[in-house]
Amino acid sequence: MNCRILVKALLYLLMGLLSASLAAAEIRDGQLWLEVLLASGNKIEFASPNSTEPVISVSEKNAPISRVFTGRLSIELFNTDKLAFWGFLNRSEPWTSQPEGYLAEKFTWQDSSLVIQKENLVFEETTFPGLDSARRYAQETGIPENQIRSLPLINSTVRVTTDEGAEQYFETPLLIHSDRPVYIGGIQLGFAGDFILKSVGGKMVVNHFIPLEQYVSGVVQNEIGNDAPMEALKAQAIAARSHAVDLLLYNRHQNDGYDLCSGTHCQVYKGEYLLNDAVREAVQATSGEILTIKGKIAPSLYHSACGGKTESSVNVWGGDPLPHLLGVTCIPEAQSYDLSQESQARLWIETEVSTSGLTSWEKGALSWEKSIPRQTLAKNLGLAYLSRIIINKRGFSGRITDMSFIGEVPIRLTSEYKIREAFGQAKSSFFYIRGPYAVNDDGSVEIVPGGTVSIKGKGSGHGVGMCQVGARRMAAQGVSYREILSHYYPGTSISSDWMRHAQ
Ligand SMILES: [Zn+2]
Ligand SMILES: [Zn+2]
Repeated sequence: MNCRILVKALLYLLMGLLSASLAAAEIRDGQLWLEVLLASGNKIEFASPNSTEPVISVSEKNAPISRVFTGRLSIELFNTDKLAFWGFLNRSEPWTSQPEGYLAEKFTWQDSSLVIQKENLVFEETTFPGLDSARRYAQETGIPENQIRSLPLINSTVRVTTDEGAEQYFETPLLIHSDRPVYIGGIQLGFAGDFILKSVGGKMVVNHFIPLEQYVSGVVQNEIGNDAPMEALKAQAIAARSHAVDLLLYNRHQNDGYDLCSGTHCQVYKGEYLLNDAVREAVQATSGEILTIKGKIAPSLYHSACGGKTESSVNVWGGDPLPHLLGVTCIPEAQSYDLSQESQARLWIETEVSTSGLTSWEKGALSWEKSIPRQTLAKNLGLAYLSRIIINKRGFSGRITDMSFIGEVPIRLTSEYKIREAFGQAKSSFFYIRGPYAVNDDGSVEIVPGGTVSIKGKGSGHGVGMCQVGARRMAAQGVSYREILSHYYPGTSISSDWMRHAQ
């Protein structure tokens, strides 16, 4: 064991004693450290993305056992049959130093700050190896199923196997480190640095353990493009950072063993993929900055291209109107159109707007056409045939948010996403169907489709919050990131003093 590894192992031991738990996020030196899920399963491989052999150190979090491996590693859960992964939560109470349960952490927002609140989870004594057996027990005993939790498991055994066949056993949680990028769990993206491996809910999870700023710099370029003008990159960095903090407050992965997942469910995180100096500079220049409104975090949703105006969050997800997400004009020429009206929506979709200086994906998002056989549309809706299409409602951006399809039964879709899916993954639901239409007394629009349903639209994505094509355009015109953000999220402020230590 070399000196560096020994020091590291001792440090981890100390950290383990201090937290004595599966503590996830923490605030360290003014930085919020997060666990971001990279891979999960019963067997996870760590491999080199090129011919250089990765050098990977594996240490137990709660003991000074550490080993350095060279080359490909395979990590397997070993004694799953002997382990209980599921239990029933009896109660959660404030954390004390001598608890009888498990430490759990929860994010809350108090007095304009993010707080990591420690809780003590007390479980019923009966535990289960599988989710099915826990559910059966719940049904038999009348315990509500929503009390089933994955147990915060420590000391389950994993077997680490190298290509040469060497084997070593470790107890979870593990701290894994690689200076060089490694492929993890078959994902063809290289990740470097610190990883945490745990067993949760009958399988292992491998998380990237990184500061929030590093997380943001693994999101920005995959969202707005690493070629975007600097002020657009900065605006995207703040939107991504605020969205991440907002997601943390939902605590929706609290029971999964990590803080954020790396897919679209949370925000797509790809590590250093496409990361360049411009993105690093944008993240650095806006370090710690998030959007707030009246002392609360402002949900900062964003999308590829609005198509003219942005959409109200209420029309897309329901809920209460949010004053900074009601929809704004993005392309100035769209201002005079009432896009909630069929005729005006059609007129605007037919209006050509300047595409000079736009990349091909921007042009494709700005204006598009597609056609789908009527029979395929019917099939996508689960219908044998389709005789009429009714547009019940268009939102502020012109997106269709409520649509009926009349076949052997009526099918009603009230989600822009489902409407896009039905039309074969249309880029947005801001489109019109070519051909004649009639407006009914109640304002709904009726269409009798031909053999091929041909549609023409503008925009890409849900249309709520910041429009990335619009942000790029504003930045290219010399608008600052602060102005871009206050345009798309009116009434919000930028705050950078919002982190507080665990209580
Ligand atoms: Zn997620
Ligand atoms: Zn736009």
